[in-house]
Amino acid sequence: MRLTIAAKSVLTTCLLILFSLTLVGLYLERREEESIVKQVAARLEAQTALLQADIPESVLLGDAWARLAAVRTRARVTLIAPDGRVLADSEEPSAQMENHRDRPEVVAALATGTGQAMRSSRSVNRDLLYYARSVPTASGGPLILRLSVPLGEVAHGFLQFRRDFLVIAALSLLLASGIAILWARRIARQLRQMVEFARGVSRGQMPPRLPIESRDEFGDLATALNAMAADVKGILQRLEEESHRSRTIMESMGDGLLVLDAGGHISLVNPAAEKLLGLQRDAALGRTPLEVLRSHEMDDLLKKAIHQEGGAGAEITLVHPRRRILAGTAVAMRDAQGIVQGTVLALRDITQLKRLEEMRMEFVLNVSHELRTPLTAIRGYAETLLDGGFADRENAQKFLEIIHRHSERLGRLLNDLLELSNIELEKTPLHLRPVSILELARQTMTLLTSQAEKKRIHLSTAIPEELPPVLGDRDRLVQILVNLVDNAIKYTPEEGIVTVTARVAPTEAQGGGGAGESSLQIPGTPAPPQVVEIVVTDTGIGIPQKDLPRLTERFYRVDKARSRELGGTGLGLAIVKHLVAAHGGTLSIESKVGEGTQVRIALPAGPPLPAPSA
Ligand code: ADP
Repeated sequence: MRLTIAAKSVLTTCLLILFSLTLVGLYLERREEESIVKQVAARLEAQTALLQADIPESVLLGDAWARLAAVRTRARVTLIAPDGRVLADSEEPSAQMENHRDRPEVVAALATGTGQAMRSSRSVNRDLLYYARSVPTASGGPLILRLSVPLGEVAHGFLQFRRDFLVIAALSLLLASGIAILWARRIARQLRQMVEFARGVSRGQMPPRLPIESRDEFGDLATALNAMAADVKGILQRLEEESHRSRTIMESMGDGLLVLDAGGHISLVNPAAEKLLGLQRDAALGRTPLEVLRSHEMDDLLKKAIHQEGGAGAEITLVHPRRRILAGTAVAMRDAQGIVQGTVLALRDITQLKRLEEMRMEFVLNVSHELRTPLTAIRGYAETLLDGGFADRENAQKFLEIIHRHSERLGRLLNDLLELSNIELEKTPLHLRPVSILELARQTMTLLTSQAEKKRIHLSTAIPEELPPVLGDRDRLVQILVNLVDNAIKYTPEEGIVTVTARVAPTEAQGGGGAGESSLQIPGTPAPPQVVEIVVTDTGIGIPQKDLPRLTERFYRVDKARSRELGGTGLGLAIVKHLVAAHGGTLSIESKVGEGTQVRIALPAGPPLPAPSA
């Protein structure tokens, strides 16, 4: 059973009061007994003094005298000879009584003149108080006059005293326990209030301040608890702010962040990590990264971080849901004793960076490879000439032509590389203005006619007069078209056909742009920007389907030897792609091996051209 403090203190108070009342009672009872005995003894002393004059001369009359004297004194009266014989007694025939010489009160009276004793009488079998006095007689030695009263008389006095004492004790016990209960209740209420208050604070609720009811230790405790609650409130507020700040930082971080608990289970995932790893936060929480992502590289990194002071870093390749390369940094969080409490893993997507790096390396390799071929040829033929090759004039002329051709090729390569890098770095800004496609095509044709004629290729254009102009940089647009028509001529066998056509590309609203079809244009809304499509079609060798997606990569060629032979650098379509993109247009290539190729570019249409001046 659980006793409350109030019950305990009331119980203790009552026991203490009971104990002290018993002690006081016993002490007072003893004092009372002594005082009653004293009173009775004084009465007996006075009565013996009065009776001593009445002692008869004749001892034979003794018993009758004693009975008379007993009536007067309300005590038993006994007369005893100095040798202890009983001469007279008020309650028994004295002749039959035993010798009283050894009775203590008799012994004392013979010695000092008076004697007193308290004991159970053997003759009458009761507790008695005896008082004896030595009485001188005229006839000879002294006689002992003894009076005795039963102690019942004394006991009656006690009983009265005890009753009074018990009543007073019970009343004071009642009063004291009443006061103790009131006091204990007050303490218990204050304690309960404080317990509730402390519980509230520990739950993080902020209960109202404790009232200061007294200036004792309870008052001090309430003051201390109020101060503690205020401190705790401040600390909680700071913690809340700090955690909010950390949460905001983590949520807004561009890098993915995973926090693991001491058991290696995910306890936090930020939105960047969700996106990066294709994770659902709720599905990931409470599981290990190995379970969720199945990456042993990541698992190894996390293990390494636990054993390595200052954390660890590694590249992690994930294949699901798509291939990504991540730079991971893991740091173990330790407490003051150095025990690991969890791990933080930061992840950065470096897929693009890696791809760029790979592309850069591939590019350098390609460039050096492309440069090596013409350089080797130039050096070889130059050395032959230097070694006396001039002697054979016919061959020397051929060698010099080869050297010239390769140096031209080198020049073209360098020009194209420079061009590409300029476009990529946006070094040469576009001067956008409306450009007529018809004129563009005519200019291109003029530039390439002789090249086409050499292969007896038929060059033609089919461009409607009313076609709107495109918004572009004239020189760049010529560059695009020359590149495309040049390719078409290069990869079309003799007597083939190369055509440049253009039209307004059908937009979705026009639904294919058939004549007479009603427009779906909603009145009041701006018309969608028009797109002009330029198509270069040839009847050449065509391009295998598998090569189509990679055609615009630098140095990508379907047939390297043929491209080189034809003076190609492998950069033409890369330049076209970049230029078209810079104009906000699109490029698409369709082809069938042995039948021909169709390169389609779509460019935004510009405002109408200013009317030619008369
Ligand atoms: P190149 O300088 O080699 O022509 P391009 O970038 O212009 O480089 O073209 C890349 C490759 O695409 C060419 O090597 C060729 O294999 C292919 N190609 C381009 N245009 C055509 C075309 N009209 N017909 C067939 N193949 C083509």
